[in-house]
Amino acid sequence: MGTNLDIAPVLGLTHDQWIERAKPLGVRPGYASEIYSRFYRTGSVGPDFATPVPRPSRILTTPSPEGDVHKFLLPVSGMVRASDGSAAEWLTSESVVIPMMGRARKRHTLCVSSQIGCAMGCGFCETAQMGLVRSLTPDEIVGQWFAARHHLGHEISNIVFMGMGEPLDNIEAVLQAIRVLTDHRGPALAMSGVSISTVGRLDGLARLREQVCSTGWRKLNLAVSINAPNDEIRSRIMPINRAMPLAELVRMLEGWPLRSSAAICAEYVLIPTVNDAPEHADELAALLAGVRCCINVIPYNPRRNSPWPAPEETAVAAFIDRLREHGAYVKRRRTKGRDTMAACGQLGAAEIRRRRLVELGVEGGVKAS
Ligand code: SAH
Repeated sequence: MGTNLDIAPVLGLTHDQWIERAKPLGVRPGYASEIYSRFYRTGSVGPDFATPVPRPSRILTTPSPEGDVHKFLLPVSGMVRASDGSAAEWLTSESVVIPMMGRARKRHTLCVSSQIGCAMGCGFCETAQMGLVRSLTPDEIVGQWFAARHHLGHEISNIVFMGMGEPLDNIEAVLQAIRVLTDHRGPALAMSGVSISTVGRLDGLARLREQVCSTGWRKLNLAVSINAPNDEIRSRIMPINRAMPLAELVRMLEGWPLRSSAAICAEYVLIPTVNDAPEHADELAALLAGVRCCINVIPYNPRRNSPWPAPEETAVAAFIDRLREHGAYVKRRRTKGRDTMAACGQLGAAEIRRRRLVELGVEGGVKAS
């Protein structure tokens, strides 16, 4: 049996894929299976591995009424160096563990990143300000679950792709990560506990629709950042809309293969003076009338150097009431972790934007992207 195994394939492959991969390395299928299950269940790798397990380099904690919110950074391969020549640092992914009040016991949702930075350029989002640095690999996405489960020690019942990045810009890696996360011999998450949130790229949605129609994927949840009631406003705050306008997006959502009890989550970041007027609520309700959805109103969390403030509580309540008058099904997302920049749309290391990427090679067996 091997003693120099790399941990990345265990994180990036399903149980069956890992067994196939391990064979040519001289690891018997029975033993490979045992390593896999033990790794995911206990977080321990045993003596066979030469590379370290994912370990957060920083954890920031904010109290919330439902428990502490933890944002953590996980080093991934690739380095950045300040233009002033100071010490180089590993790139980091960012994830957030969010406590949710359950009926019986406390549940945790893990918000994961699919990319470092993002290419979508949405005007209200912190991550957009850093641009796209690179996409994450499946093992780097699953590594975020590993760190939350085995370093922070939380039971994770839900995973949402709402951290840094546009999941549909990295769709194959995201789908592979979901295969691993839902493998019953691995993290064993329920497919119904996984949500992908997207700006609504039509090509990516077409690929995702094909996947959702295959066995085992029907319960995957879809969230779409609608964020505006019309093309004029949406194109202003979300550049993707200039190429893929709302009418086509809404048509795609109207035809989405939903289970009978399910709904699409239509996210709407409420930004003062931009999209919070009563007429906007009227227009939004009409726009989504044919889509089986829950409108998730998210009070805007100011990014760094934001031109807009957070909305007043009364404005949020008024907007939601107005939508409900039209018969819409509406939920309000509770803001958690705003002061550690852990809330929606606030992920993204400020430092990276001031640095340039340098090629420093690869250390410690960490796989290059
Ligand atoms: N790229 C994906 C996932 C990341 S953003 C997407 O756009 O859906 C996750 C959610 O946070 C999206 O609904 C997004 O619109 C919202 N969001 C982005 N910036 C925000 C901010 N500053 N305040 C509140 N929500 C924000």
